[in-house]
Amino acid sequence: MIVAANFKTNKTRGQTRDYMDEVNTFIRSENIQSEVMVFPPLTALDSFGQGAVVGAQNAYYVENGAFTGEVGTEQLKEFGIKTVLIGHSERRHVLGESQEEIAKKFNYFQSLNYTIVYCIGEKLETREAGEEALMAYIETQLVGIDLEYKNLVIAYEPVWAIGTGLVPSKEDIENIHAELRVKTSKPLLYGGSVKVSNMEEIVSVNNVDGVLVGGASLYADSFCKMIKIAEEVK
Ligand code: PEP
Repeated sequence: MIVAANFKTNKTRGQTRDYMDEVNTFIRSENIQSEVMVFPPLTALDSFGQGAVVGAQNAYYVENGAFTGEVGTEQLKEFGIKTVLIGHSERRHVLGESQEEIAKKFNYFQSLNYTIVYCIGEKLETREAGEEALMAYIETQLVGIDLEYKNLVIAYEPVWAIGTGLVPSKEDIENIHAELRVKTSKPLLYGGSVKVSNMEEIVSVNNVDGVLVGGASLYADSFCKMIKIAEEVK
């Protein structure tokens, strides 16, 4: 199982350090075998010792250069970071990243052997248009993406479920993950309003290999509970 925390634009450097101390102590003391990933804001990136893998929520497809406001691999390397989130719905739909840009990022980080957590997911109107429309839309988010890249993790996150408290039915998650399983053998995460109370049900669904958690991951004790549930379900 993979249990990943996306802080988005939350937490300071100090708060992140306290959080990582708590989570890493938990991982070590409970001898957790699941893979735990944490994506703090870029200002809080650091090396935190043994335990969770730390990744970047975003990065540009350069080593360094004149790209105001971006970070490249030179900055990530300083903290030993080799994991990156690409294609998150907020980057696609709030910040306007195109599939072309996303695929460029993907190819660059793939060429450097980064672990890529690649996010896909539909808006509500697409979901309501039926499964065929939904899968056709998902297909557009896979253009230019090597689905058998060895360090790839896919996160299926319906946009309407992110931060809303809404979650698709178990059957709907199972159906989409089954369709995705035909396209890739890589781990498939579910994301969208995962919390302690629905964690067990979600990670028990066929072809769900873990979760990507936003809001509920901000509390280290909740996140540790979710890690523990994933560990037991596995
Ligand atoms: C996310 O942003 O990746 C996410 C899944 O958020 P939340 O858990 O808050 O829905």
